[in-house]
Amino acid sequence: MGTDGKAPLKVGSAAMIANTMSCLKDWRRDPKGKHDCPNCGKPGVVITDRSARPMAEWYHFHCDACGLDDSLCVPMPTHRPLL
Ligand SMILES: [Zn+2]
Repeated sequence: MGTDGKAPLKVGSAAMIANTMSCLKDWRRDPKGKHDCPNCGKPGVVITDRSARPMAEWYHFHCDACGLDDSLCVPMPTHRPLL
């Protein structure tokens, strides 16, 4: 990131979160394949699984073409608050 002075781009809008989630679905089906950036649509977005806790998954998205550099938290479907 930041090789040409651009600030890293964050997943901000609801539309972009939806794009990022669908990109993540494709990536889960084919983790070794090339996937289109959820922001600029160019192939080659890099998705890194940074999940550390059992309650949620973290995925980091990076795209050289547009400068996208952000992480998305995906709550696990089995998550329930501990009462
Ligand atoms: Zn991009």
